[in-house]
Amino acid sequence: MRIRAGAATHVGRVRQRNEDSQLVTPPLYAVADGMGGAPAGDVASAVAIRSLEGEDLPAGATDHDLSEAVRRANRAVYAAAAGDPALQGMGTTLVAALAEADRAVVAHVGDSRAYLLRDGALQQITRDHTYVQELVREGRMSQEQADRHPSRSVLTRVLGIEEEVEPDLISLDLHQGDRLLICTDGLTAMVSDPEIRRTLEGEPEPQKAVERLVEAAVEAGGVDNVTVIVLAAEEGEEPGSRPRPPGAAVAAGPPGTETAGVPVPPAAGTATTTGAAGPRVTTDGGDEPEPTPGRPWVRRSVWTAVVVVVLGAAAFGGRAYVRGQWYVGESNGLVAVYNGIPATVAGYHLSSVVETTDVPAQFAERLQPWQGLSDGITADSRPDAEAIVVQIRRDVTRAERPPASHTRKNGGSGSE
Ligand code: MG
Repeated sequence: MRIRAGAATHVGRVRQRNEDSQLVTPPLYAVADGMGGAPAGDVASAVAIRSLEGEDLPAGATDHDLSEAVRRANRAVYAAAAGDPALQGMGTTLVAALAEADRAVVAHVGDSRAYLLRDGALQQITRDHTYVQELVREGRMSQEQADRHPSRSVLTRVLGIEEEVEPDLISLDLHQGDRLLICTDGLTAMVSDPEIRRTLEGEPEPQKAVERLVEAAVEAGGVDNVTVIVLAAEEGEEPGSRPRPPGAAVAAGPPGTETAGVPVPPAAGTATTTGAAGPRVTTDGGDEPEPTPGRPWVRRSVWTAVVVVVLGAAAFGGRAYVRGQWYVGESNGLVAVYNGIPATVAGYHLSSVVETTDVPAQFAERLQPWQGLSDGITADSRPDAEAIVVQIRRDVTRAERPPASHTRKNGGSGSE
């Protein structure tokens, strides 16, 4: 069997910069979604990807090799942040897939995802490292609540924030016809799983498939940067030598972090198998899974998230973390720009309005891309938040305009 790859990235309709980065150096493929605001977010994802690129993992590399590579990428981001005050607190998600012949290993940290399409069924094989997803797994919150939760973008595990990180590792046997998809949340926040499945099924050519997926995310609102890699397991021989394609590592431009409204399908990622028809999925990866109470890592990470958020604990500049967050929400019925995160914990508001617009929030919420407005639409920086406002205003103006008064379509008023 051989692996063919397609890869695409797009800044989206709202952000000014693309903070996602990607890597296509067979047998290693990866996407990373930087966070931390300009310029740190793009630096974080690019440093992680370059570190992985430098690994030059050989054919036959093991799960352990991949795990170690990810740990080194973590330390590279951590060191870069420690060495420059302007980069403090930066971090990145990472999904790395080592895929060759009839097997793949996926390592992941954060809320970028991997999916497997097999025999017409799409399965998410990573489980988001988010605060709300941990609560779902512990049975303390339903998936539906999690999908709407104002803190759904708060990550519990990120590359580069702590000196050591434990990636989840998922091993799979690849079958002919399988499609392995890895992507940043700019795809999953905008495009539903059924639509992803239909696109993958309808487009056997991996490069065309990624282009269609990216296009779908942008057309659905493109609120975040979007990066997608599709690996197709096909009949045929792997090329004997493994030529490194030109321009293999691609570090994208600027922004992109968590987004609003992530539709989260049933999490797999935990341990072992996925049922008869499903792929054999084995999770390994240190202390990750085992859904038993008292697993120190998860408890600590959830607790860490809360402490960091509430107290602004110093560990990774918690206060700076909250202060460095921006989102667009609703205030007194109007669209507004907030600094902080859209949450209240123990009666403590973690955000404040910095700018109120004259755009009625209810008008915006009638439009599909902005339905999550009252929960908060995450931005990477204040300029990003303002760019979101511009887009909302534009969309609202268009929608409220009486039909037939203009024939002008998208882009008529100076969209980029
Ligand atoms: Mg993102």
